[in-house]
Amino acid sequence: MFNSLQGRSVIVTGSSKGIGRGIALRFGSAGCKVLVVSRSRSESEAVAAEIAASGGKAMGFAADVSRQADMQAMAQVAVESFGGIDILCANAGIFPAAKLGAMTEADFDLVLGTNLKGVFLSVSACLPAMKAKKSGRIILTSSITGPETGFPGWSHYGASKAGQLGFMRTAAIELAPYGITVNAVLPGNIATGTLADLGEDYIRKMTASIPMRRLGSCADVANAALFFASDEAAYITGQSLIIDGGQILPESLAALEA
Ligand code: NAP
Repeated sequence: MFNSLQGRSVIVTGSSKGIGRGIALRFGSAGCKVLVVSRSRSESEAVAAEIAASGGKAMGFAADVSRQADMQAMAQVAVESFGGIDILCANAGIFPAAKLGAMTEADFDLVLGTNLKGVFLSVSACLPAMKAKKSGRIILTSSITGPETGFPGWSHYGASKAGQLGFMRTAAIELAPYGITVNAVLPGNIATGTLADLGEDYIRKMTASIPMRRLGSCADVANAALFFASDEAAYITGQSLIIDGGQILPESLAALEA
């Protein structure tokens, strides 16, 4: 299992840090050529250098997923540098909090524009290269928040993450004739710097609500993405996989305390 990815060309959006960085490192260690993408060229190049330092092949690239021209340039660089695009991990996302009443139109547009339109634009940009090869793997980083759960302050975020799954299901049908699969990983609470910024109280309460009593690691999510990208997952499309240590399972606090 998982021996099949050597030499594949992979784009990971939002991979200068956090979950995306974990995905980029995992694909790098599996022998893939990785395009590390974020809005910061220096931070993307730093992750690419990390992959190269452990014997992998990677390049950093600066692009904003909410900009069509940036996504087209990203796909072009992958094709020119790596000879095509085999795998797209559409992972870039933001999760600023704002409760209804305080949330502005600009707040809503920023989150939907990055998390949902960004998926549409990154997928669209990579399609010509994937269709030309009659094969491809697209893996979206959604969330449990939206598709499965809610949390005050994240109605826009939840809408964007649930929207990704709506996009995925129709994209999976449209792209199946080209040998392209579209699946999603749904992380629970994963230990990243941005999550840590939510504060110790948030982290402590979240950890207590997870049956496995720990936050997830970026590697936990990366391994699921790697599975969807593997040849062994060729017949799986339009599906989502929750990686949350059992967080959505308890019916109530009593279920955790019993
Ligand atoms: P993170 O540590 O803040 O990393 C986000 C990455 O996305 C960074 O590389 C960031 O770099 C990039 N990014 C943000 N906006 C971008 C844009 N417009 N264009 C291109 N790149 C952009 O976040 P994370 O916690 O790893 O989250 C990654 C993904 O997982 C997101 O989609 C998030 O919704 C999802 N997720 C996270 C958790 C969690 O617990 N951490 C749980 C469920 C789902 P720049 O800012 O420099 O561009």
